[in-house]
Amino acid sequence: MAGELKEKVGVLALQGGFAAHVSALRALGAVVREVRTPDDLACVTRLVLPGGESSTQLKLLHSTGLYMAIKDFAAAGYPLFGTCAGAILMARDVRDPEQDSLNILDIEVSRNAWGRQVNSFEADSDGTLGDRGRSHLVFIRAPRICRIGSSVEVLLHYHDEAVLVRKGVHWASTFHPELTSDPVALKVWLQKTKS
Ligand code: GLN
Repeated sequence: MAGELKEKVGVLALQGGFAAHVSALRALGAVVREVRTPDDLACVTRLVLPGGESSTQLKLLHSTGLYMAIKDFAAAGYPLFGTCAGAILMARDVRDPEQDSLNILDIEVSRNAWGRQVNSFEADSDGTLGDRGRSHLVFIRAPRICRIGSSVEVLLHYHDEAVLVRKGVHWASTFHPELTSDPVALKVWLQKTKS
């Protein structure tokens, strides 16, 4: 392996469901590093933004200097995957309530639009991702994607609504792939964004 640059997947580890993402990605064979600072980010070639509380994560992104560092990382073409709160952070516009974001994907999201914690639910996607079967979807206080810009492609629907979208190497899901035994969305993202 001498001279070979090993691809490392970063998982933003400031708040929320980062540990489950670390385990899921390791189970898929990825080399993973938790990211808490811009220096951590400089050591990875992809980044996952986990679920959690997007307003808290946003504050922590600013206080750690990761807000600008992640925007630069994404603009440089390093792949991002945002889960739930992560998708909210990646959106261009956020409402219910309105909040600032990283503006990486041209989508508008409505926070908690699938219901509060007690309304969390599991379901199967309408269609399939690649040659895989329907994806099992876990929604926890999930946002709804209420506007999709022309640069953004929808990869999965549930009840005719977009739940997994991407612009090139930047993917965002309103469900939690890391909480299922077969996290197809993360697996396909890893495969398709291999450098
Ligand atoms: N409701 C949370 C938010 O608005 C997201 C929930 C989640 O990540 N599971 O930030």
